[in-house]
Amino acid sequence: MSTLRFNALKTLPFRDYRRENAVQVPEKLSDLFGENVFNENTMRAYLTREAFSAIQSAMKYGEKIPRHTADQIAAAMKDWAMSKGVTHYTHWFQPLTGTTAEKHDSFFTPTEDGRAIERFSGNMLIQQEPDASSFPNGGIRNTFEARGYTAWDPTSPAFIMGTTLCIPSIFISYTGEALDYKTPLLRALNAVDAAATEVCRSYFDKNVNKVIATLGWEQEYFLVDTALYQARPDLVITGKTLLGHAPAKGQQLEDHYFGSIPTRVMNFMKELEIKCIKLGIPVTTRHNEVAPNQYELAPMFEEANIAVDHNSLLMDVMARIAHRHHFHILFHEKPFAGVNGSGKHNNWSLSTDTGENLLSPGRNPKKNLRFLTFFINTLKAVHDYADLMRASIASASNDYRLGANEAPPAIISAFIGSHLYSVLDELEKVNDGKLSPEEKTQLKLNVVGKIPEILLDNTDRNRTSPFAFTGNKFEFRAVGSSANCAGPMIVLNSIMAKQLQEFKKEVDRLIFTKDLKKDEAIFNVLRDYIKQMKKILFEGDGYSSEWEQEAGARGLNNKKNTPDALKLELDEKFINLYEELGIYTRKEFEARNEIKLENYSMEVDIEARVLSDIARNHIIPAALNYQTRLVDNVKGLKEIFPEGEFQEVAKEQLDLIRKLSANVHQIKVGVDELLAARAEALAIADPQEKADFFCNNVRTRFGKIRDAADAVEMMVDDELWPMVKYREMLFTR
Ligand code: ADP
Ligand code: MG
Repeated sequence: MSTLRFNALKTLPFRDYRRENAVQVPEKLSDLFGENVFNENTMRAYLTREAFSAIQSAMKYGEKIPRHTADQIAAAMKDWAMSKGVTHYTHWFQPLTGTTAEKHDSFFTPTEDGRAIERFSGNMLIQQEPDASSFPNGGIRNTFEARGYTAWDPTSPAFIMGTTLCIPSIFISYTGEALDYKTPLLRALNAVDAAATEVCRSYFDKNVNKVIATLGWEQEYFLVDTALYQARPDLVITGKTLLGHAPAKGQQLEDHYFGSIPTRVMNFMKELEIKCIKLGIPVTTRHNEVAPNQYELAPMFEEANIAVDHNSLLMDVMARIAHRHHFHILFHEKPFAGVNGSGKHNNWSLSTDTGENLLSPGRNPKKNLRFLTFFINTLKAVHDYADLMRASIASASNDYRLGANEAPPAIISAFIGSHLYSVLDELEKVNDGKLSPEEKTQLKLNVVGKIPEILLDNTDRNRTSPFAFTGNKFEFRAVGSSANCAGPMIVLNSIMAKQLQEFKKEVDRLIFTKDLKKDEAIFNVLRDYIKQMKKILFEGDGYSSEWEQEAGARGLNNKKNTPDALKLELDEKFINLYEELGIYTRKEFEARNEIKLENYSMEVDIEARVLSDIARNHIIPAALNYQTRLVDNVKGLKEIFPEGEFQEVAKEQLDLIRKLSANVHQIKVGVDELLAARAEALAIADPQEKADFFCNNVRTRFGKIRDAADAVEMMVDDELWPMVKYREMLFTR
């Protein structure tokens, strides 16, 4: 009966753990960098000068590429790709399913005269028409045609996967509504570029023509041997274990963190890195994470659009390469109860085309005032739009992680470190209106002068904050490991764009109506912002219950689950923000909210069904099987022992028999209740009400079933246990 588990375990000794089979990493990885990317170097080699400069201005300044130039670029891309054995091309895009999508078409084209050629035209490069009806669209489909379009995004370079040329694309409906992550992301990046460039040029540096949002993500993940993975239906279907008793040794010893990387894992990592390097993903860091079998990979930061593409691409590549090493990769935020979950920290900053990081303190007071401007505006934006930030990281799987004891809570707060905290304290004391000479000196000495050029090394780190300043960037730490970074990046860049617009208006108003000097006006506005946003600053332990209480007293929201977080998203203030900036129309935004709610309900529903199936088809039979053995044993004892002595020798068995019955009962009743609740939930039409019900009446019933099942696991003979155990999944490498 437990053959599945034991067959899986039997394969383990045959895995290749030998060092001599290690993947060979070429001496100079740099030679391979971008080998499979249609990057600037390749473009130079393959494009005419005209086409090259057209694509460069499209990449840098969003200029349109003329049709005949597109034909040239397509032909060059095809020649380059074919020289590398490529036969097909695809528009590669990121629909709202959370994965990437591609539909491969061949370069091969039969001609009318019965021959055939390899063809790839400008039209084919620019646009494709996949059927949109099987991608999430939040009701947009119901009102309009199912047709969707993918359109080339020239700001992210094309790349080769296997024998396919992949063209990063956006995905929109027939009527122009965004159906993907990239479309609104590009709009948000343009908005923040415009607003930040305006602020830079007006107050700090006339030479700035463009501001680029940068993103450096850190991807955490678990590896599980494929055989073990396949023997766990919950892992296969939901990406997480829905039951399983905690192993005797968990992560208490924390001996895995930054420990030596096991050979088989190392081979996987090396092969992955070579592949990444060829794809132009600048991976630099790899290490073990806190939990057993948990790891992390991080690249150098890049322009946000490219970094988002690279993360999506990487997740796909990782899964494929893991399989070659007989691992299955888990991106779920909480695959195992009782050990740390996985996140995907999003490090974010803004930098100018003159090469300056706007969140990096500078060498002189002017640069530091610029730093303070962008720093405080970020905090003000996060304060004003905290609910959007919270909603941007909400998902059924991240709910298991947020607020658990190793991830930031669902309260949006910011950590800036004691040094900057004291600088803000000083700045808050600035008087209203014009500044006296004394005040100016004091500001110079104690505010802008006090910010060291290299904050990086003197910022204290707080790992319990969802949004932390780390010297020259903010780190959004609450993002889940399975998320598409575009979600949080759309929000962060949109709210920053809006905030910088407001800032510009306010400073100009003080300059023109109150006759303040530029610096005076800026100080005045920043002082007001500090007063307004201060309540999100928190330097203490974000995991503590004291913080929950204090946050409540400060009036900060603490929406612990996805339906509650998503409820706040549809506020008119947020819809206005998006419409004003041209990021989403009302319809697009409402559709997205609905998709997220539906995904939530669907995920909880699938978990409910899988848990019920496992409980009924695996756990209860195992319990009864073992109980029957015990009953036989007791019957035998009764035959050979006199009554008084029998009671004594059969005591433990009788006790176990009773306990097994009690747990089987708890599982049975639990499953019946769960399935009834699930049916009730499915009958609800309104997406929000439905998600609420799944959250409060379906998911809440998992615990009772799991508790009993895990108790049974501790009682039943190991040989009869059908499910691969936690210790086996977590300590096999
Ligand atoms: P950790 O958070 O693990 O302590 P670091 O602070 O060294 O690690 O860096 C984390 C990440 O921050 C790196 O992946 C790096 O690419 C990214 N990063 C560094 N500078 C920037 C920046 N200006 N913009 C965006 N990301 C950045
Ligand atoms: Mg980090």
